[in-house]
Amino acid sequence: MIRKIVATLTILTFAMILAGCQSTDTGALPPLRLVSPVVVAPAAPPVRRYTMAPSSTPKPAPNHTTASAGQVPAGWKPPVAPRQWTWIIIHHSDSLFGSAALIDKWHRARGFDELGYHFVIGNGTNSGDGQIEIGPRWTQQKWGAHDNALDNRYNLQGIGICLVGDFDKQHPTAAQKRSLVKLVAYLMRTYHIAPKYVLGHGETKQTECPGRYLNVAEIRSLVAQSLAEADQQEDPAVAEGK
Ligand SMILES: [Zn+2]
Repeated sequence: MIRKIVATLTILTFAMILAGCQSTDTGALPPLRLVSPVVVAPAAPPVRRYTMAPSSTPKPAPNHTTASAGQVPAGWKPPVAPRQWTWIIIHHSDSLFGSAALIDKWHRARGFDELGYHFVIGNGTNSGDGQIEIGPRWTQQKWGAHDNALDNRYNLQGIGICLVGDFDKQHPTAAQKRSLVKLVAYLMRTYHIAPKYVLGHGETKQTECPGRYLNVAEIRSLVAQSLAEADQQEDPAVAEGK
């Protein structure tokens, strides 16, 4: 019931937000009505399937670097209280080149408030190959502007990750895939996001994004593998097969 009310409010509030990287709607600038979503979003967060840690502080890092360890770039840990994240949505930029700064420009030109994604992973054109750029939305723990499917739930509670590239024409680079797996594994572990909530944009709505050459099922499987390996390293009993 509460979810239904929230959903309805959300639809009303955000019906105007167009978002994402749809390549087909370039003709229409979204009529920007970026009404502050903070009014609605935190009011009644849906029941979570997992218990949130009391803070975003990860447990003390063992002396190895894994997805679940604390050894990640400082910017991955936001300086403010974490938002209630349920999904991770993977996109491509639908362009052969780009960077967080460039996509920010493109998004503003389309009427967005700023870069719609939380993270951008470069392909060596305008940022490093596999470089993970952290968008201001992540630092502020702000709702996304990357996927307006359904009742806007993926924008409100979905972490948007964009890989630079047009994956209908080219493959993601090996470095991009490695970075994506590392980032997704970290986010899943930190925010208690289940594998089935890691989705390609095209799994949430009718869109070609993130392109035919970015295999999201493969990414899910690589992430699961990475997390399992991290667990083994952290738990000697598991490692010994006990
Ligand atoms: Zn997309």
